[in-house]
Amino acid sequence: MINSLHSRNKRSHLVLKLSIFLFLGGCASLPTEPFRVAPVKKELLLKDICRDNNIYWQWDSISQVVTLNLPEGDAKVLVGSHIVLVGDRKIFLDEPIRISKSAVVVPLDFERKVIGDVSIRSKYIEQCVLKKLRSVVLDAGHGGKDSGAIGRSGLYEKRVVLDISKRVKKILERHKINVVMTRDTDDFETLKNRTEIACAAKVDIFVSIHANSSLSRSASGVEVYSLQELDRAARNEDQRKINAKIMYKGLSMEQNSSDLNAIVSDMLYVKKKPESDILAEKVVERISNLTKAKNRGKKESKFFVVRNTLMPAILVEVGFLSNQKEERLLNTSAYRQKIAVGISRGILDYGSSE
Ligand SMILES: [Zn+2]
Repeated sequence: MINSLHSRNKRSHLVLKLSIFLFLGGCASLPTEPFRVAPVKKELLLKDICRDNNIYWQWDSISQVVTLNLPEGDAKVLVGSHIVLVGDRKIFLDEPIRISKSAVVVPLDFERKVIGDVSIRSKYIEQCVLKKLRSVVLDAGHGGKDSGAIGRSGLYEKRVVLDISKRVKKILERHKINVVMTRDTDDFETLKNRTEIACAAKVDIFVSIHANSSLSRSASGVEVYSLQELDRAARNEDQRKINAKIMYKGLSMEQNSSDLNAIVSDMLYVKKKPESDILAEKVVERISNLTKAKNRGKKESKFFVVRNTLMPAILVEVGFLSNQKEERLLNTSAYRQKIAVGISRGILDYGSSE
């Protein structure tokens, strides 16, 4: 439904939050999956170099920071940058490091300059593999004093979406996905707090769940919003900066360089936008297939929570409370369960996609 913070009418709100924290860890516990990327002539896979040198490494796909645990300290480099930081030492590579088909690719001089002739390394030899989805923030819209939309027979959006969110949580947890809720009771949570919860939680994606409302009683169906194109100013707005800082806490990456900030800001956006689109498409399709509700498709917006979360984020509108039939359906636990299964399957589809 339309939230006072959104524009009116059909532009149902979207609040989205974000998040994809792909944490590639050097990690024995992650399932192994073969890298399909063949080394290009002038570059090597970081995975191979680290394996050969027994170096533990990880890539945080949100912050785009690659970290190598070297005996002399951690080496950190941003994807897209050719500068590697080891403590306060800077190492300049011939070419920037980059991602190719889910693998971290480094220039030929990387091994010599960064790793040197190290022979004895940590005991970690495991392959590090990208796993797309390990954790999710579920954001049940509204809550507390903010009831959201109210159906003609008195059904509150805040109750419908909290119930659906709890159902989604149960399903995802059965699939070993960690779920963080922005609220699990009838509490009011500001949009600002919701984005900050998401960014502090280090999750892979942000999914906000709402029910729609329209002045037109005949409007019906499900729609899912992803992030609209942002201009440079929007990419650098204050809340994004605050949330980026929250995300970087603990990564111990120097964040006082304006160049670095700009690079990170761009990269977070470049990563987030297409991932959000994919997620939105999968979720809306699954819900519509399961419920037979009208598929209103993937839409785009730049509502606060969508643009100010730093991970892929979508906002799901599960149906129209202003529509008598859909209100009646949403008032049944069987229908809410169908919606929850649809959302969960869409999320799982996304998590297993390339
Ligand atoms: Zn709402």
